[in-house]
Amino acid sequence: MTRETLNDRRLYTPAMRTYVLSGILLLAVASAVTSAQKAIEAQPPTAAEAKAFVDGADAELLKLTTDASHAEWTAETDITDDTEATSARMNEKATGRTLALTAESHRFDHVALPSELRRQIMLLQVTAPAAPKDPKLLAEQTQLAAQLTGMYGKGKFCLETPAGRQPVPEAKCLGIDAVSSMLAKSRDPEEMTRLWIGWHAIGAPMKDKYARFVELQNIGAKELGYHDTGELWRAGYDMTPAEFSAELERAWVQLEPLYRELHTYVRAKLIAQYGKAAERADGMIPAQLLGNMWAQEWGNIYDIVAPTDPRLAQFKPINLEASLKEQIASKDPAAGSAFAEKQDLSSDRGHAASLAAGKGMVHYGENFFTSLGFAPLPKTFWERSQFVHPRDRDVVCHASAWDVDSAEDLRVKMCIEVNADYFATVHHELGHNFYQRAYNKQPFLFRNGANDGFHEAIGDSIALSITPAYLKHLGLTSAEPPAEADIPLQLRTALDKVAFLPFALALDKWRWQVFSGEIKPPDYNKAWWSLREKYQGVAPPVERSETDFDAGAKNHIPTNVPYARYFLARVYQFQFYKAMCDASGYRGPLNRCSFYGSKAAGDKLNKMLEAGQSRPWQQTLKEMTGTDHLDAQPMLDYFAPLYAWLKEQNKMNASL
Ligand SMILES: [Zn+2]
Repeated sequence: MTRETLNDRRLYTPAMRTYVLSGILLLAVASAVTSAQKAIEAQPPTAAEAKAFVDGADAELLKLTTDASHAEWTAETDITDDTEATSARMNEKATGRTLALTAESHRFDHVALPSELRRQIMLLQVTAPAAPKDPKLLAEQTQLAAQLTGMYGKGKFCLETPAGRQPVPEAKCLGIDAVSSMLAKSRDPEEMTRLWIGWHAIGAPMKDKYARFVELQNIGAKELGYHDTGELWRAGYDMTPAEFSAELERAWVQLEPLYRELHTYVRAKLIAQYGKAAERADGMIPAQLLGNMWAQEWGNIYDIVAPTDPRLAQFKPINLEASLKEQIASKDPAAGSAFAEKQDLSSDRGHAASLAAGKGMVHYGENFFTSLGFAPLPKTFWERSQFVHPRDRDVVCHASAWDVDSAEDLRVKMCIEVNADYFATVHHELGHNFYQRAYNKQPFLFRNGANDGFHEAIGDSIALSITPAYLKHLGLTSAEPPAEADIPLQLRTALDKVAFLPFALALDKWRWQVFSGEIKPPDYNKAWWSLREKYQGVAPPVERSETDFDAGAKNHIPTNVPYARYFLARVYQFQFYKAMCDASGYRGPLNRCSFYGSKAAGDKLNKMLEAGQSRPWQQTLKEMTGTDHLDAQPMLDYFAPLYAWLKEQNKMNASL
């Protein structure tokens, strides 16, 4: 049974699709633009023309993105050269039209328009893909995007194979899920170092391709009027790119003291466990010791850092995996055999059982949303989703949520196993699906999160309600632990949620500087590590050089998915959670609130979800929380008991 680290789950929305333009379409585009320009010279366009243009674009984009989604779904649930090629072609087609419509939309830049129309045009312009117009360059970019994604997806670490050598035929080769699982469980520093180096080797062959991919995207971004692709990515937040950078930095300043206390505490515990292997004179934590390939979430080493004070140590975290298995098996006997000791999961019976167990997990998430007053998921969700790894083909297991037709065809794509991590992941992914359905009455260009951080935060704000009291209500634990047990529980949560913040920040700071040219290819790796050292306080296990490309060993770099959204989401989720706790009438310490079953909380949430991207996110946030900016205070309130405790522990350790 592997335990996976599905930390930064992917969201599928029009804004993030990397479309690329095809040659034939380009000709059509060129003539469309020319006739548009002629029209400008003749007479200024009217608001009625703008309305007709937006309506037409809306309908066309809906159709094109639906086609592209069908192809991409097929490509990700059956990775072959052909499905990749089909998906790339559909994306080219959609990209071509998106870029053409974006170009055409500039006709209306100086026309007085109703705000709703103006906003749709603005969103079309800021969500345009960074892709060059030159058809040869575009084709090259599409190919690179597909190759980089494929190199990551097919990446393997072969045991007992020296770096750079072909694996011997009998070598055991592991994908990222298997390697992650081993790293999570290992308590042998040498083995962890081996795993870390082995996986990071997949990055090196990507480096030149990635550098070229960046160049090509930047050509596209410049053609759209931006300095570089990073600026284009930061333009989608109803504020200037510079204001957006400042918004993140401000929240990090609020949160850094909490992170520093956590880092100090964890480092001391690791040194106690591993001695010299964990102790560096510069105060960094060796990245391979934190139970996660990217040291981005540290929950897997909870056993090493758990409180030893007997008053706290008596409270063991609830063994959710065991109780989930027991309950799922009792509700659905067909699922039960998935957990049997010697069950072969590749047999028909074994596979059917894991599928039933996977669905059982998803039902918990759905049940939370329906308790808030949301309608159940459609029947097709259960028929079309990928819940577990198929037996006969390569798939992308990285969990994601889809709305294939931007309306009712909701799906998840996961390789679910029954454990606490996936329990949280299921809630996360369904947050996307319920958001997608809630805004499906909006015009197509508004069918999106208020910003992409919102989309990532919804499910997690729900999952914060998975308190011991809630688990007791579900019958997943028999006794609700007393208030003193909050510290171990909060520590476990902080290892994931707080530890993640500087990683997320460092990742996109690196990428923004790569796009802007501040970081050049000869310094890719050095800069990657200097940012990770600065923000996270972690260092690689062995000396790295520019023949390595460690960023490439992280999914979101080769697949080119923006990452700032995950930083936003970690902070927003506490803002949303607090708002729903307040709406439910809860009074008490924030970390003990569950709004399960509260229709008032559900109404509040639904209002926010239905609005989609139809208004600036600041307005939507203000209506939900009373605040119009990213605010770390609810997160700090939530972790207040832990923060006080960590400071105390670190003071004690320092005086030893
Ligand atoms: Zn997500």
